[in-house]
Amino acid sequence: MPFGLNARPYQIEAVEAAVKENVIVNLPTGTGKTLIAAMTIEALSPGSETPALLVVPTQALMDQHKKYFAKIRLRVYVNTPAAALQALEEGVMPPPHLVVFDEVHHCVKDHPYVGICKFMAKQEKPYRILGLTASFVHGSFKKLHEKRTALEENLGAKTFVPPSFEQDPEKLPQYYKVDFENMTDLPLEKDVFQWTNDTLEPFMHLAPPHLRYAITEETHRSAYTVYCTLGSQGWLLYLRHGLVPIVQSKLRQKAEYVASKNQPLGGPTQEEMLSAIAELDTLQEHLQMLPGNGMISPKVRALVELVQATPGPGLVFVERKALCIPIKHILDASGVKALAVMGVQSMSDEARVRALEKFANCAVDVLVTTPSLEEGIDVRVCRFVVRFDYFSTVRSHIQGSGRVRTTDAKIYYFEQDPDQEIKKADLVVRTAKGEATELEVEKQCAEQTIDGAETIEELGPHQWGEETTVWDVITNRSYRGMSCATCGCRSKIISKKFGQGKKKSKRTYVLMQGTVECK
Ligand SMILES: [Zn+2]
Repeated sequence: MPFGLNARPYQIEAVEAAVKENVIVNLPTGTGKTLIAAMTIEALSPGSETPALLVVPTQALMDQHKKYFAKIRLRVYVNTPAAALQALEEGVMPPPHLVVFDEVHHCVKDHPYVGICKFMAKQEKPYRILGLTASFVHGSFKKLHEKRTALEENLGAKTFVPPSFEQDPEKLPQYYKVDFENMTDLPLEKDVFQWTNDTLEPFMHLAPPHLRYAITEETHRSAYTVYCTLGSQGWLLYLRHGLVPIVQSKLRQKAEYVASKNQPLGGPTQEEMLSAIAELDTLQEHLQMLPGNGMISPKVRALVELVQATPGPGLVFVERKALCIPIKHILDASGVKALAVMGVQSMSDEARVRALEKFANCAVDVLVTTPSLEEGIDVRVCRFVVRFDYFSTVRSHIQGSGRVRTTDAKIYYFEQDPDQEIKKADLVVRTAKGEATELEVEKQCAEQTIDGAETIEELGPHQWGEETTVWDVITNRSYRGMSCATCGCRSKIISKKFGQGKKKSKRTYVLMQGTVECK
C-alpha cells in the first residue's frame, strides 16, 4: 500500500478493526481519518466489481475528498448522502461492498445517512460499514450513552477508539477564557423594536410592498440580539450592512425551493421572485448611508482588543448569523481586516467561496463566521479561534480545536469555561471507549459557574410575576426568570448546585433586561 506506508500505529489498528467488523472510528480532527478510509477501501476492494461508496455531508467535503482519492489513484465513488441514496435507489449505482460515512455522527433521526443504512440493510450481499467522526455525539452534551447506542443501532456498527491513540499534548491548542464586563441597563425588547421600526420607516417605500414583511420579520428576530450583544453601534451597523443581504439570501433560497418544487400555479415564478429580491438593492444603497454613531458593548471591545493583540489569521465563531456582518465592520474600523462568512441561508455560494479563498491565502486577518463553517473546511493557516457566543454542542469545542494546526495556536472562549469543555470532550472519548459511566456524564452536566445577587430584592423594587423559561439573546441560551408587571424588566434565576453529590442548591438573581429603578 504505497499511500499507507507512513500510517501511524493507531491508524493501522483502526483499519484492522474495520476489515474485521463494522466500526465507527472516533478520533480527533487532524489525526488522519481519510487515510484510515483509504487503507480500508484498499484492503477490502480487491476482487470486488463495485467501487466502495464514500458519503460526506457537504459539497465542500466532497470536492476535497474527490481530489484526494484521484491523487492516490484509488477507485471510490464519493457523493453527498441525498444524491448517493438516489443513485442507489434508482439502480444507477450497484449496492457497494463497503460504505464509508464521513462525519458519521449525522446518522441520526431522518438524515439521509440513515436512509442509506436502511437501503443497505435490505441487500442480500454482505457489505461492510465504516463510520468516521471526531465526536460521535450529535448536539448537546447530554445522554452520551443513549446517543452512542442510537448511532450504533442506526449503522449496525460498534464505536471504536484505537487503543494506542494518544493525543500529543504538544499538538493541543492552548485555551483561554476572555473576561469582559456585561452591559448594564439594557433596553427593553419593545423599545429596540420601536427604534428599529422608526429608523427603517422612512426607507421602507423603496422595498417592493410584498417583501417588506420579510424585513420586519428579520429585524424582529435579530435587532434586539444585535443591540444587546454588540451595543447601539453594532445595531446601526446591522441595519446599514447586515439586514438586507441576509433577507435577500433567505428569499433567494425560497425562490430556489419554489423552482425545485415546480410550485407556482398562479403564484410568482422564480424569475419574478428573483427580480423583486434584486429590487432590494435600492433599499440597501440607502440604508448603508444611515447616519449616526453608537456605542460598542464591552464584550465587542474585548474582542477587538484580543484580535488586535493576537497574531492572525484567526476565526471568530458566532452562533447568531446576524452578528457576523456588524462584527466584521467593527473590526474593520479598528484596523483589522475582516470578512464575514455565513451558511447557505444567509450568503450566496459565490460570496462564501471567495471569502474562504481570501482567508486561505492569508489576504484577511479574521474570518467572522457561523458554525456552518465548522465542519470539513480545512483551515490550516488558522492561528487562533475565538468562540464569541455560548455554544451548546460538544462538537463546537472538539471541531474548533481541530481547526487550528499550528503548535502555538490559541483558543479563546467568551461565554464558556475552557476547562469544563475539555472535561466534556474527555468524557466523550471515554464514553466512546466504554469507560465513562452515565453518572459521570450527569455530574458534568450539572456544572454551573455564574454568580448573582443573594435576594431578588437587590434587583430593585419590582413587581415580579411568575417564573417562566425564556431565551437570553446575549448568551444565546434559555433561562428561568421573572418579569416585572410595572416596567417589563426581566430577572434571571441561577440555581447553583453544591455539597456532596451536588444535592443542595442555592438560588441567586441577575437583572437581564431593564434597570434596578422601576419606571
Ligand atoms: Zn419594575
